[in-house]
Amino acid sequence: MTLQTWQIGEAKITKVTEMEQRWPGFAVIPNATPEALLQHEWLLGPFADPKSGRIRLSFHAYCIEVGDEKIVVDTCAGNHKVRPNFEALGGLETDFLDRMTEAGFGPDEVTAVVCTHLHVDHVGWNTNLVGDQWRPTFPRARYLFGAKEWAHWATEPQVYGDVVGDSIRPCIDAGLAELVESDLRLNELVWLEPTPGHTPGHHSVRISSNGHDAVITGDLVHHPVQFHHPDWSSEPDVDKAAAIATRRSFAERYCDDHTIVLGTHFGGPSCGLLKPHDGAWLLDPTGFPDIA
Ligand SMILES: [Zn+2]
Repeated sequence: MTLQTWQIGEAKITKVTEMEQRWPGFAVIPNATPEALLQHEWLLGPFADPKSGRIRLSFHAYCIEVGDEKIVVDTCAGNHKVRPNFEALGGLETDFLDRMTEAGFGPDEVTAVVCTHLHVDHVGWNTNLVGDQWRPTFPRARYLFGAKEWAHWATEPQVYGDVVGDSIRPCIDAGLAELVESDLRLNELVWLEPTPGHTPGHHSVRISSNGHDAVITGDLVHHPVQFHHPDWSSEPDVDKAAAIATRRSFAERYCDDHTIVLGTHFGGPSCGLLKPHDGAWLLDPTGFPDIA
């Protein structure tokens, strides 16, 4: 098994993929039709299928190793979840947990779980099914949920099944959850940055060490085409105006010569450097391997 890894100074980041699929872009980003995507040559291959114009959409966790800490950022969809209205994420039976273990992030090894937000495809492996009970998958980890994010979802009607009940509450009931601010510093090298809009308490994850920098987007952007079109909203963005403003300020902040942007749903290389392009930005994956 080949895993994609990034060494950011003293921090090592590993991508563990649950699944990568070709999706019609407009299913996530209404403006992202095949015709529109095929006009952006820089996308074709790494981030979009050059024949069909479909986007490469990935569900993966970024696993960060810093000293004795093993931090998992976002836990994908999970196995055996009941997900009415979202069939692609329901009833899965993947070997994700085996691959996590091979990557050195087995259930007993993980020290922290960060959810960039509490959507269905970011909390799934928080729990797994033991008998007929949902139990925390990582019993030695602290589960860091955004306080503002939890305040939103604790009362919001759920449309994709009982996500709170099967993937969040069991961690709270087990005493493993901590409600945190969106600028929490986990350690010297890793901290959260608020990037609201997609959801009210959404945050991204920054990693910085010895002059090396990376940022994990979460869902402030679903596909790199949104760096060229920051005003192209994602269907599930809760506050579309705030999400657009966040995409713009994010691209301005990280358009430099070295910060690696790690996309939470980007397929293929899943990353790149932001560069100015045609009045906006593009994501340049040159030099990073294309690993689904
Ligand atoms: Zn997502």
